[in-house]
Amino acid sequence: MLPDSEKSAPSLASGEIFDLGRDMTKYFTIAIILTSIFFPQPAFAEDISNRDSGFLRLVNKDNRLSADYIPANLVEFGGVNLHPEMQKAFTQMQNAMQADGIYGLSIQSAYRSYAHQKSIFNQKVLELAMQGHHDAENMAAQSVQPPGASEHQLGLAIDVSTDGKLCRSFGETPAGKWLESHSHQYGFIVRYPASKTDITQIVYEPWHLRYVGTPHATIMKNLGLVLEEYLDYIQKVKIYMFWGEGEYYLVQHNPQTIPCETVDVSSLYPFCKDEYIITTRKTYQESW
Ligand SMILES: [Zn+2]
Repeated sequence: MLPDSEKSAPSLASGEIFDLGRDMTKYFTIAIILTSIFFPQPAFAEDISNRDSGFLRLVNKDNRLSADYIPANLVEFGGVNLHPEMQKAFTQMQNAMQADGIYGLSIQSAYRSYAHQKSIFNQKVLELAMQGHHDAENMAAQSVQPPGASEHQLGLAIDVSTDGKLCRSFGETPAGKWLESHSHQYGFIVRYPASKTDITQIVYEPWHLRYVGTPHATIMKNLGLVLEEYLDYIQKVKIYMFWGEGEYYLVQHNPQTIPCETVDVSSLYPFCKDEYIITTRKTYQESW
C-alpha cells in the first residue's frame, strides 16, 4: 500500500506555476494540464521493460523485488558492486567533497543480493526465536528489511561513511551535512530522513544514499519529498518541466510515446509495466 502523501505532498493544481523556494532563481517547475492536446499520440506500443533504468523504482516492504531480480551491468568498485552510472556520480561527488576539504568518504555497502538479504533476515529471526519470542519473524521485520524489500538489491543504493561505521551521528559530521546539502546535485537523495520515518517505515539513516539521477534528486530535495511521495506527485501532475542550468527536462507519467531524446525510462513500481516515467533532457539551444 502506498503511504498517504496528501499530508505532505505539495498542493499543485495543473497548469499552476509554483516556485521551489530558495532555488527559485535557478529552478522552477511548471505542471501542465494539456497533455492530451500536445501529445495526441496513438496507443503506446513499445515494451519498455528492457529500457527501464530503475532509477525511480520504489522498493520497500510493500514493493519487493523477486528472488531472481539481479540488475544488469553492475560494476565492481572499491570492493562492492553497483550501477555504473551511480559509480560515476559517486566519484564526481567524492571529488567535489574533497574540493570542499572533506576527505575519506567511502562506500561500505552497495548491491545486496536477495540471498544475502534472506540470510541476514533469517539470522535475525533465529536470534529472536532463541530469545523466546514467538513472533520472531514479525519482530525481525521491524529492524531488518525482509528479503526483496531492500533497495540495495537494485544496485542503486549505497551506505557511506568516513570511518567505516554506520552511525546515526554521521548526519552531524561535516561529511553527513555536506551530503545532506549537496548530494542531490549528483543525483543522490538521503533516502531515509528523520522527518519522514512514518512514510518510509525506516528509521533515520544518514548514511544510506539512493541514486535517482538528475533532475529528480534536485526536485525531490526542493520539494522536500521522499521517493514514496515523489512518485505519488508524478502520478498526480502527469507531466511537468524542470529548468536547470543550461538544460531543461520534460518528465512524463505514462506518455503515449517515448520521445527520441529520452534520457531515462523508469517503472514506478517493480514489474508494473503500466506505470512508468519518461525523462527527456534538452539544452536551451535545442527545440523540442
Ligand atoms: Zn543502506
